[in-house]
Amino acid sequence: MGSVQIVTTILAAAITAVAVWLAVRAVMKMTAVIRLGQPAPERSSDKGARTKTMLVETAGHTRMLKWGVVGAAHWFVMVGFIVLSLLVLEAYFEVVTPTGGLPIIGHWTVFGLATEIITVLGLIGILVLMVIRLRNRPTRPGGRSRFTGSTMWQGYFVEWIVLLVLIFGLLIRGFKVATDHFEYPPWATPVSHAVGAVLPDWSDGASVAALIKIAISMTWLIVISLNVTMGVAWHRFLAFPNIFFKREPAKPAGSGLGALRPMTSQGKPLDFEEADPEKDQFGVAHVEQFSWKGLLDFSTCTECGRCQSQCPAWNTGKPLSPKLLVLSLRDHAYAKAPYLLAGGGKDLTGEEKATQAQLAHLDVLALAEADKPLIGTAEEGGVIDPDVLWSCTTCGACVEQCPVDIEHVDHIVDMRRYQVLIESSFPSEAGVMLRNLENKGNPWGAPQNTREDWTKGLDFEVPRVGEVDDFEYLFWVGCAGAFEDRAKKTTRAVATLLNEAGVKFAILGEGETCSGDPARRIGNEFVFQMLAQQNVETLNEAFEGRDKTKRKIVATCPHCFNTLGNEYGQLGGEFEVVHHTQLLAHLVATGKLTPVQPVDGGVTYHDPCYLGRHNRIFAAPREVLGDSIAGDLTEMPRNSERSFCCGAGGARMWMEEKIGKRINVDRVEEAMATGAKTVAVGCPFCSTMLNDGVNGKGAGEQVEVIDVASVLLRSVKPEQPQGGKETAPIGG
Ligand code: SF4
Ligand code: SF4
Repeated sequence: MGSVQIVTTILAAAITAVAVWLAVRAVMKMTAVIRLGQPAPERSSDKGARTKTMLVETAGHTRMLKWGVVGAAHWFVMVGFIVLSLLVLEAYFEVVTPTGGLPIIGHWTVFGLATEIITVLGLIGILVLMVIRLRNRPTRPGGRSRFTGSTMWQGYFVEWIVLLVLIFGLLIRGFKVATDHFEYPPWATPVSHAVGAVLPDWSDGASVAALIKIAISMTWLIVISLNVTMGVAWHRFLAFPNIFFKREPAKPAGSGLGALRPMTSQGKPLDFEEADPEKDQFGVAHVEQFSWKGLLDFSTCTECGRCQSQCPAWNTGKPLSPKLLVLSLRDHAYAKAPYLLAGGGKDLTGEEKATQAQLAHLDVLALAEADKPLIGTAEEGGVIDPDVLWSCTTCGACVEQCPVDIEHVDHIVDMRRYQVLIESSFPSEAGVMLRNLENKGNPWGAPQNTREDWTKGLDFEVPRVGEVDDFEYLFWVGCAGAFEDRAKKTTRAVATLLNEAGVKFAILGEGETCSGDPARRIGNEFVFQMLAQQNVETLNEAFEGRDKTKRKIVATCPHCFNTLGNEYGQLGGEFEVVHHTQLLAHLVATGKLTPVQPVDGGVTYHDPCYLGRHNRIFAAPREVLGDSIAGDLTEMPRNSERSFCCGAGGARMWMEEKIGKRINVDRVEEAMATGAKTVAVGCPFCSTMLNDGVNGKGAGEQVEVIDVASVLLRSVKPEQPQGGKETAPIGG
């Protein structure tokens, strides 16, 4: 070993020792913070499916590749990081001797070729990512950036480190080539040979370049170890467990979509017949009341801003960005952690758990952080502003987009639950809706005995469950479908089409109450459970004696469809629920319904969030609107998975939209820009919101917003009077 190698070896060992010591400390700190969360026993089930999903999502980059160029570039960088870690390891042999290499595989041509290819593709990938970050930097002139609010220096730092490590990898090889100590043939390592051709014949060059490469890599490790909230770097490790422990591993996308998690205390679902607010946790009031998976979610955020770029609230000037919400919770959790780890925290009656002695040596900043209310205005020092919390429509665009499977909607609703159930703090205008749900069983407060009014004037009998036994489908009408004037037209259209196709169906009539969706999504789990239990009982009675495959329900409202199909199972109600567009598509495909008349003026289709993103039903409504009706359907730029919310979900239908541009107006402008004269929808709330938007623009005469079922009915029975355009105001 020469004198240069003695120095390079000592320096490499020293910086590595410091970096590893700091990294171990950082991992212990992160583990301790994540362990502060509540139990989540269900996250350990089905390890086989979890492992498979984790491998598919990471190795295949299935979620990242939804954004083609970024996804591909990131894939090369990820593979580069994993495979080229071997080259960092090899550098430790090279600081000792410039001709050194990895034992066994170090001189194998296949290894030389593979690492050469990955180095070149990694270089291209990181340069692409650097250009994308620069072109989308928040400070660029004009436009909103998905990186707004991201810690930009951290992104640049990580990218430069990757670039430099790759460059120094090539330099090491180049010096070996230049000194004739490189064993791989030129055909397998052409770039290394090209670099070597321009480098001097310096015998210590490889050792010095290896030292610099190690120093760069260890600087990265030191910096991220000193910044445990640096998700842009830590996600390289945390993404694996975060994907492994996602809510529903079998779901290919959007694990945190569809059903909401039940309200839990100590990891167990709460039953309101036994729950006690002095003993049980009602929602989330403090950051440590999220589950450990929640805290892992917050730690894993890469700050990529994909969620932010799709969020309807953020895109219409509201203060909510799902990314900033996650970052606020992450920063708060880590800043509060010393206090919690010292034994601090509030019990369920609000009393401090720690003794004076336990908190005596705590950093004043940690104590100040502990005093912050989780939900509160800037003046109150809150972590999350109430306007942020209540701006969410639960549309799921953030969950759909997140490459590391963060479950934003669950976290938002958990915080709402505490605000509603314990603090009674929510937008006051929604109080009327909640009172109506409790007292009348529907959000509009309409009399229960008018639930069947929509059947009046139909030229056939609509049977009730109990009057007939041999029905195939129970037609779940929903509150909007029964009481809201526009939605009633959809209900009538569906019933007419089912009757026309010879489908045996029956309704519950006055036996039906609200599915509970708005109560659950505003956070009132108590009212949700009350309504849901009542409905589950009624439905179980209606289907008594039938097995699950014969307990079929058709619903016109995607919110009811989602709640009955995905959430009633949590309360003992197992049903086969279809959306009316699915059933109608089947009836058209099997020739039971035949569209004969096309629609004039072009059609565009708006995907409802709770049908599309939350339940991945994109094809059925488009099939109903198929060639014979709509000709070439004109898609809006934001469609299918990337559809833009109408603004009504998450109980926002019953809240005023006081901040920013109205979401429905934004969507209507997009729909109108297609030039289509018909905007087809598959949800009564979307219908209301988009109709309001069209009318607000004074375009009610030119553009019609109408349910897919009504479009089909017009085509199947063009001679039948359709009852005019669906532009009536909310009734009931
Ligand atoms: S669910 Fe929709 S509105 Fe809510 S934060 Fe996510 S993207 Fe935004
Ligand atoms: S998409 Fe996921 S990882 Fe990216 S900023 Fe949003 S929450 Fe973080």
